[in-house]
Amino acid sequence: MKFKDLPIMSDKEGVVLFKPHIPKNAKKAINKTLNTRWIGQGPQVDKFEKIFSSKFAKNCSTVSTGSGTDALHLSYILAGLKKGDEVITPVFTCTATNIPFLYMGIKIKFADVEKDTFNIDPLSVEKLITKKTKAVVCVHYGGVPCNMKKLNEICKRNKITLIADCAQALGAKYNGKPITEYSDFSIFSFQAIKHITTADGGMLCIKNKKLEKKAKRIRWFGISRDKKQKGTWLNDIYEVGYKYQLNDIGATLGIESLKEFNSILKHRKKIYDIYLKGLSYNKNINCIHDYSQNGYAAWIFTIVLKKKDYLQKKLREKKIETAQVHFRNDFYSVFKKYSKGKKFKNMDYLQDKYLVLPVHTKVTVNDAKYIVKLINEII
Ligand SMILES: *Cc1c(COP(=O)(O)O)cnc(C)c1O
Repeated sequence: MKFKDLPIMSDKEGVVLFKPHIPKNAKKAINKTLNTRWIGQGPQVDKFEKIFSSKFAKNCSTVSTGSGTDALHLSYILAGLKKGDEVITPVFTCTATNIPFLYMGIKIKFADVEKDTFNIDPLSVEKLITKKTKAVVCVHYGGVPCNMKKLNEICKRNKITLIADCAQALGAKYNGKPITEYSDFSIFSFQAIKHITTADGGMLCIKNKKLEKKAKRIRWFGISRDKKQKGTWLNDIYEVGYKYQLNDIGATLGIESLKEFNSILKHRKKIYDIYLKGLSYNKNINCIHDYSQNGYAAWIFTIVLKKKDYLQKKLREKKIETAQVHFRNDFYSVFKKYSKGKKFKNMDYLQDKYLVLPVHTKVTVNDAKYIVKLINEII
């Protein structure tokens, strides 16, 4: 399938930064689900997990959740993190990565990011490791994989769990292999603006398949649903669980989205590559990208430049929406306890200079070329 290449500024609202991708048959399929016995967690959820697994995480157990944040929290529990443990996590990410640590009383050690990718800097990670460090979290920002070779090496050497927040990296590859191969836990998000959406939803991919049963129990109050559905109540609850499941309506949307995933990623990469090619020669702009790896998933495209505010204003005048999207987490009051007196050289340098350009299936090739032309004229 090919998404229509409409003329420049095809959309009345201009080029918006994010827009959900609703698959062609979504409404029909959801209607069908609405007429069945199950609209909560039922057969569509199982089916979605199976298809997802075969496409992105063949060697993992896949457990879907109500959000990416749910999946992150579950992964932190399954990694055995306890109150007082230390985790190393990037200072720059969606706050969802780090908020669950606050639920759990875990001590956050923020690591600096790399200047060229905004991904966690392995050098910074290495410096923060102590005897109390239990896990490292990496976030593949914008869909560009982190330095997994180095991170795996550090975690193996120190016997630390590696958790990957892949919310922006659906379909990403590293050294030609699926990104899920490189971490103990990988999580994905199907929130409205991600590569594919279930309105809200997530997926937890677990390397150690022995943890699957526990993951599914904790997803549902701590109850084994398989046993419960036999109609008996000989079903003790011996660990605290949550209500973190996906439902069949969302899963139906997810199944339809997966059918279109290859064209979704192809289109996103096309738009991303137009920006990369058209802007990387501009001396006043640095394009955030890992030139040594080809497995990027093209979720958003980030540029770094001195005149960020000026460019943003000029583009808004032309109805092209840009924004910073995420902010350094150490500046939020809730994380103050963990950030006081800490310095992050690369983050300090980047914080007022980055801007995110729209990459989604409603951005046309002509839109992207027009945006490149405009930026090169303005900057
Ligand atoms: C979107 C996102 C999340 C959160 O996912 P939700 O499904 O909204 O809970 C977590 N981490 C990153 C990096 C994200 O981009």
